[in-house]
Amino acid sequence: MKKHYSVIVVGAGSMGMAAGYYLGKKGIDTLLIDAYDPPHNMASHHGETRLIRHAPAEGEQYAPLVLRAQELWFDLEKASNRKLFYPTGTLLAGEENAPFIADTIKVAKKFSLPMERLQPAEIEKRWPQFSIPENYIGYLEPDSGVLLNQDIILAYKTLAKSHQVAIQTNCPVTEIIPSNSGITVKTRQNTFYADRIAICTGAWTGKILKDIRLPLQTVRKTFGWFETNDVSFQPPLLPCFYFNCNQQKYYGFPDITGSGVKVGRNDSEKDVDPEDMVQDFGKYPNDQKDLVTFAENFLPHAAPAFRNGKACMITKAPNKNFILDKHPEHDNIFIAAGFSGHGFKYSSAIGEIISQQITEKKSELDISAFSITNCLSAANH
Ligand SMILES: Cc1cc2nc3c(=O)[nH]c(=O)nc-3n(C[C@H](O)[C@H](O)[C@H](O)COP(=O)(O)OP(=O)(O)OC[C@H]3O[C@@H](n4cnc5c(N)ncnc54)[C@H](O)[C@@H]3O)c2cc1C
Repeated sequence: MKKHYSVIVVGAGSMGMAAGYYLGKKGIDTLLIDAYDPPHNMASHHGETRLIRHAPAEGEQYAPLVLRAQELWFDLEKASNRKLFYPTGTLLAGEENAPFIADTIKVAKKFSLPMERLQPAEIEKRWPQFSIPENYIGYLEPDSGVLLNQDIILAYKTLAKSHQVAIQTNCPVTEIIPSNSGITVKTRQNTFYADRIAICTGAWTGKILKDIRLPLQTVRKTFGWFETNDVSFQPPLLPCFYFNCNQQKYYGFPDITGSGVKVGRNDSEKDVDPEDMVQDFGKYPNDQKDLVTFAENFLPHAAPAFRNGKACMITKAPNKNFILDKHPEHDNIFIAAGFSGHGFKYSSAIGEIISQQITEKKSELDISAFSITNCLSAANH
């Protein structure tokens, strides 16, 4: 087997697989290496669906990234001939001053993104599936929706291979040794060499990059599906939803894949070491209780038919800051990390950025907001 490549991407999950595709499309001799066989259930990219909101509450620096990502999702649907995005719209709901809603509206205004303000009675009239308290306010972001994340990773994988990108699966990278003449990438089975590498190892990034001590924290999140036999829970009759209520955050999806209506809690988490990650939904009594309580309160016709749940990891950076930057000491290593539970929607644009940064040391989109320095200074505040 060939041992030297122009580029090696370590970690072929959400960001790495997309990067592999864009590198392959540029004709770059690329190897992708993953510890498992993506898509898989052991990292941050399972659970079938991911929300794409175009007005990111996380900050205006993410808006150009998501708008480019959306263009690339349409391109990917064409290139792969697969349905990967459902424009269901997203209903935001919560108390009038709920921070997630206020932050979203600020970004929507700045980028002139469509947002329809709705009173509780209007929401219930349009979607009788919801029960909305009188003191709530709602906003519909009509063009946003659902990405089929596992299908997307598969689509990128197939397309990357068609561009002659090599993929090594079930092959954990154990050591990365930079030098002036290139980089040595050791795996349990083999040693590979590359001129440049991208590190896209999600929750394992802190372990792989021990030397630079990135302020990353890995946490466990849970979500689950509710059984419904009713077409009103399928798109286009139900949008995605994001509730910021009583200082809690829940999100959910209509039944797109036949698995049921999906609900996740976004503000509750437990520290986890990625080496110890197992599918242990139900380990804590609140895993299921939180989701059922949310459904009983806000989706009364779906509750209490809870079907099953899953656990997943996210990699938190201070202030939810992404890291898209070169290694501080080795400019032939590019790092994409710290996606803080909101990264999937951007993965097409991030894959494109990685391919540009790796080959040209610059990208069409400005990534200065995502520097390691910014992340470190957020950690100090
Ligand atoms: C429950 C949940 C809900 C979410 N909801 C949303 C949402 O609605 N919208 C949204 O935009 N985002 C959402 N996210 C966040 C999003 O899924 C993540 O930000 C994104 O998947 C992170 O991508 P990644 O490439 O960094 O990590 P991953 O996709 O996990 O990829 C990392 C890959 O690196 C591999 N790897 C690690 N170490 C090694 C090694 N040593 N050698 C080789 N390979 C290695 C792993 O096997 C893995 O395949 C959610 C996340 C969770 C957990």
